[in-house]
Amino acid sequence: MNVTELTIEGVQKGLIAKEFSAVELTENALLNVAKQEPSLHAFLTITKELAMAAAKATDERIAKGEKLLPLSGIPCSLKDAILVEEVRCTAGSRMLDNYIAPYDAFVTEKIKEAGAVIIGKTNMDEFGMGASTENSSFGATKNPHNLERVPGGSSGGSAASVAAGEVILSLGEDTGGSIRQPASFCGVVGLKPTYGAVSRAGIIALASSLDQVGPFARTTKDAQILFETISKRDLRDATSVDIKKKKKEVGVKELRIGVPKEYFGKGLDSGVSKLIKDTIGKFESAGAKIVEIELPHTQYALAAYYILNTSEASANLARYDGIRYGFHQEASDLLGEYLSSRSEGFGPEVKRRIMLGTYALSEGYYDAYYVKAQKIRSLLKQDFESAFNKVDVIMGPTSPVLPFLLGEKTSNPLKMYLVDTYTVPLNLVGLPGISLVAGKIDNLPVGLQVIAPSFEEDLLFSIGKTLESLQ
Ligand code: GLN
Repeated sequence: MNVTELTIEGVQKGLIAKEFSAVELTENALLNVAKQEPSLHAFLTITKELAMAAAKATDERIAKGEKLLPLSGIPCSLKDAILVEEVRCTAGSRMLDNYIAPYDAFVTEKIKEAGAVIIGKTNMDEFGMGASTENSSFGATKNPHNLERVPGGSSGGSAASVAAGEVILSLGEDTGGSIRQPASFCGVVGLKPTYGAVSRAGIIALASSLDQVGPFARTTKDAQILFETISKRDLRDATSVDIKKKKKEVGVKELRIGVPKEYFGKGLDSGVSKLIKDTIGKFESAGAKIVEIELPHTQYALAAYYILNTSEASANLARYDGIRYGFHQEASDLLGEYLSSRSEGFGPEVKRRIMLGTYALSEGYYDAYYVKAQKIRSLLKQDFESAFNKVDVIMGPTSPVLPFLLGEKTSNPLKMYLVDTYTVPLNLVGLPGISLVAGKIDNLPVGLQVIAPSFEEDLLFSIGKTLESLQ
């Protein structure tokens, strides 16, 4: 039995046919993780006891003849920014190295209720700040397709764990691309849901107006099952909504695909550009209509994102004072304790963002930076609204570049930020986006980003299934 080959349906059929038990499957998955981790480093914590208990519960269900739950017996991993009760939760930071989560995040609760087998917590850039997982305080994760390259980030551990077949599903978090970009780099499916579709309760915040939790899987269908499990109204997050809207059904023959010229400009790798255009061409050959569109404010999105991200991060990270929880450094007075705990607990990218954000929010600069960035957000929203008057979905590359070498961009933060060019606009406007597997160049995966109007995740899933059937 090879976990790598299985989907949710495959596992559950095998369980029902008694080809293997959930305990056997879980033991197998844990062995596989132990074998791969020394070279991959996708995990920060393995939750063996939790996994075995969930597997036993599934086997008992089967023994009693009860129906399986949507995720019964399915090995899953969670980004280490998502709380799992009584399990260490670091957010990739030395600051939270010893932090044990006191309760389950809403999404954790939902996947546990659905029978998931939680194998462990995955590596990430510190507090979600990065695009390669190299900003983790605990060392980088490697790309399973090429161990000299990055898996993307910040949810690189989640994407790598799915791509390497260590688990079948993973939950990540996306503030500016952290689900879609690592999905693209690792050759798996990754969805950033509409802002409000998934509760953020129990998630370690980076930038609260941009953060969304979402699924990773090897197939669109599995990503959809995980999304449906977690997208429920939660009273603990005032921005979470109940998605009861009647979904628009659009077959590939009536599909109007918008292709923004701004997503094929300077900075885009020529190989990626060609592969993405060829992939869009497959939809055209299947009967879809391709419409050239404009998203004129795209050029300002990255700058606006980094102002808003750093501003919100500087406020969210104020809670890590070394006193209430996390890393603590003794000093002769209280101010000294704050200063030394934060200086030693946080890594360089986190400190850079706290400084930038504090500056952007300070008196005299607030209007020039923060307010201006919020205005750009409104303009971007209008760009997408007018595009969606003409088309059903928008397609383009998820990342302008192929998975890069470890160390290639670490000395130049601006180069690292540029990787987020096509993903950040969606977080700024709240729209859902999925990264689908377009193909490979030199054995390195390339992702197609598909963007839909708010709460039209089902449309994204149907496009994902179409693409899988065309390949
Ligand atoms: N690369 C982006 C950043 O560094 C994305 C982060 C994220 O989505 N968590 O901010």
